[in-house]
Amino acid sequence: MSAADPSGATAVEAPAMGLAETRELEERYLMRTYRRGAVDFVRGEGCHLYDADGKEYLDFLAGISVCSLGHSHPAVVAAVTAQAERLMHVSNLFYTEPMARLARRLSESSLGGRVFFCNSGTEANEAAIKVARKHAHGRGIEAPEIVSFEGEFHGRTYGALSATPKLARNEALGPYLPGFLAVPDNDAEALRAAVGPNTAAVLIEPIQGESGVWPTSEEALMAAREACDAVGALLIFDEIQTGIGRTGSLWAYEQTPVRPDVITSAKALGGGMPIGACITGPAAAEVLEPGDHGSTFAAGPVATSAALAVLDAVDDPTLLRSVRELGARLRSGLEALPGVAGTRGRGLMVGVALEPGIDAAAAGADLLERGLVVNAPAPGTLRLLPPLVVDESLLGFTAHGQ
Ligand SMILES: *Cc1c(COP(=O)(O)O)cnc(C)c1O
Repeated sequence: MSAADPSGATAVEAPAMGLAETRELEERYLMRTYRRGAVDFVRGEGCHLYDADGKEYLDFLAGISVCSLGHSHPAVVAAVTAQAERLMHVSNLFYTEPMARLARRLSESSLGGRVFFCNSGTEANEAAIKVARKHAHGRGIEAPEIVSFEGEFHGRTYGALSATPKLARNEALGPYLPGFLAVPDNDAEALRAAVGPNTAAVLIEPIQGESGVWPTSEEALMAAREACDAVGALLIFDEIQTGIGRTGSLWAYEQTPVRPDVITSAKALGGGMPIGACITGPAAAEVLEPGDHGSTFAAGPVATSAALAVLDAVDDPTLLRSVRELGARLRSGLEALPGVAGTRGRGLMVGVALEPGIDAAAAGADLLERGLVVNAPAPGTLRLLPPLVVDESLLGFTAHGQ
């Protein structure tokens, strides 16, 4: 592939196979873990995707809030290309500059402590769980507990999955890890009651993403902060979906009345490159020590260079204000549509509640067919996570109705 042609027109070869043949290979060789939409994407540019037949789609899912700057953003492509040509990987046995610069950037833009890097969201939560458990052992707790709300999603590895009370649960995958408790969503009283002398941490999403965009109430967030403070536990925000500008501030916690002790990040952080981070404030910065954790791939030069380019673009007051404004406009447009019962969310993280009787999965498949990419995280809900750089004119689809 030649990087010389900035238009990308000749740089991307037409793939040899189409959807049917790709599907055939998938069915023969891949484990059956995903239900996929019936499209074979071959190219992306800005807010648009193109399938093998050249059909254009408006992407209002952005790879589940990963491609927040749109597809193949020139600054991210340039950072990745330049770094890949220079040095791609050396392992964490040595120093590399982009990693150190990214850690400073993440710390200074949030909680001010230290950062542990990994390669995905679930791993970021694994790191946070290690920090919480070790912090608790340091306070003399023998069997530390982590408390969450029932509708949350924290990932697919066993620690993160054990902190995920309902979604993705399958007892055939058991046993899960001990030391995790869940209380009903937004139930401040139940949360206060669940936090006690054995609590290592409260781990919550400020807005639940995978369960269908359900903002956690300010009352519940404040109850979590107070309960953690009362017993010396850590408050951990899973900002894997809400962070990196998605809600109209760099971190979602900035628009809440509380400040967590730890945040986890991934998804949009790498602009399409796999990278995750567990970011601490002063209370948790010194917990992990040599030998406590590690990763071969984590924070390699290419992923961290991409993340630095992402933060350069996203950590910009003009862009973040536009995310808040466009989000409000998108929601009022959606609310005027037939079939829409209401919307939820913040910034450009939008859940659309459909009227009773409308099957969200079927509606999502229909929209895909018509060239709009969204997803259906729950039976009555569509989720929209458009690129943060979406142009106001692209929100016009709402005028055409469903
Ligand atoms: C996506 C997500 C995760 C898991 O991230 P992976 O990169 O898929 O491991 C965890 N928590 C939240 C809130 C997420 O949205």
